[in-house]
Amino acid sequence: MCNTQNLARTIGHPGCGPAPQIQRDGRPRGAARPAVLIALTATLALAAILGTWALRRRSAAERTRNVILIIIDTVRWDALGCYGNALDPTPNISGIAAEGVRFDQAISSSGWTLPAVASILTGTWPTIHGGSGKGVLLTPIRDELPTAAEIMKTEGFNTLGFANAAFVSPRLHLDRGFDVFNHRYAYNWNVRRADETMDAVLELLGERWTDSNFVMIHFFDPHLDYDPPPAYATKYTDGRTEPALPLTMQACLAMQSEDGGSPSSADIRYVRGVYHGEVACVDAQVGRLVDALKTQGIYDNAMLMITSDHGEEFWEHGGFEHGHTLYDELIRVPLIIKLPAGIEPVERVVDAQVRTLDLMPTVFKLLDIPKPESFVGDSLMPLIRGETIADRIAFSESTLYGNNKRSWRTARYKYIRNIGENGQQKAELYDWRSDPAETRNLVAELPNVAARVHGEFSDFCEAIDAQASRMPYRPSVNMSPREIEMLRSLGYIRDD
Ligand SMILES: [Zn+2]
Repeated sequence: MCNTQNLARTIGHPGCGPAPQIQRDGRPRGAARPAVLIALTATLALAAILGTWALRRRSAAERTRNVILIIIDTVRWDALGCYGNALDPTPNISGIAAEGVRFDQAISSSGWTLPAVASILTGTWPTIHGGSGKGVLLTPIRDELPTAAEIMKTEGFNTLGFANAAFVSPRLHLDRGFDVFNHRYAYNWNVRRADETMDAVLELLGERWTDSNFVMIHFFDPHLDYDPPPAYATKYTDGRTEPALPLTMQACLAMQSEDGGSPSSADIRYVRGVYHGEVACVDAQVGRLVDALKTQGIYDNAMLMITSDHGEEFWEHGGFEHGHTLYDELIRVPLIIKLPAGIEPVERVVDAQVRTLDLMPTVFKLLDIPKPESFVGDSLMPLIRGETIADRIAFSESTLYGNNKRSWRTARYKYIRNIGENGQQKAELYDWRSDPAETRNLVAELPNVAARVHGEFSDFCEAIDAQASRMPYRPSVNMSPREIEMLRSLGYIRDD
């Protein structure tokens, strides 16, 4: 793809959804702007962006100080072609995976957005970073912990963030350390589509690209409501079009049986097909970014990371959406790293368990940046180099809905502690290697294993709870009454 096409796409809005209604400055897009003025603006923007990128191309290409972190909200690992999805809605991401390293057992710190994204950016567990919530009460991350963007900024990086959700917002302090935080405050509606997000990315990169750049891009499209643009709406649904788009929470729950049982397999296939359309839409924009970076000579030496904050449940355990459990359909996520040129991975596919909070420690290691003590993850480089290392434990926690839960995933077993309102605790133990769908609770069958894993889990929880209790209290922020009313009316706030 040539620059002109890139920038035409930056200025126009191709192929991935309708033209957005409102620009970031609040002006209705395209309203009363003469065609000549648009063309002139486009030409000037083209010249400015070409000049900026071209002038800086050589120095950027000579160094490996360009780090791009892409977080695609709500994307299950099995939604991607490179993880074996036969529909292959993600050829561009598969291309990046083929050049890089794919991690097959990557675990997020939580099953919903705020704690999961905060764990990536602060490098620690939700209990410690504090970014969490229940229902309509949300707690911002603790300001005494450094964020990835702050560290990168201190190291001389230009820090640019693009985010698309209320749960990844300045209100929750997730913008800390970013020179620019380009944000759309959206719930399941008012979503900035992937093409519009990429327009903003390319425009800002054109204006602000320097020799050292840390860029975070958060896409929200695969999150409810499922409403892919026309080109993707029926691509994975075998032609089915009903119920009509957008598929809202209410529309999906309406497919359940009267007693709340799962929808028919045909209905689930339809819902997932529409969801795959959203995933494909994001993939197209990832491809657009790759093309732009290649055109500017930046791609080869850049480090690219692609992951998700959490997955999505399509009734595998009787529920729908996310934020309510810690089963693997929610906490197992895709993780792909393309390394800068000159670093040849020994392993292209890593089966060992890793955590999304290992991402930033990997960046720090690669760039020779001292890892702050609060970043508890470990670099993934030893695994990429094919070294045998000790198993990593994945701890996950925080539910937005329902009972509090915590999970402890070892190299073989997954232990889940479900804490009821009256303090009643329910334990689950799964051999996830042989039972990846987590269908057989082994607590009674393997009491010694359950006791051992429970002991490790309890010691860990005691330690982080004690650590958190010594940290300053953080007040929660309430959503506005209007937000609460709207979310409740649409079924996004649950009383369970
Ligand atoms: Zn999310």
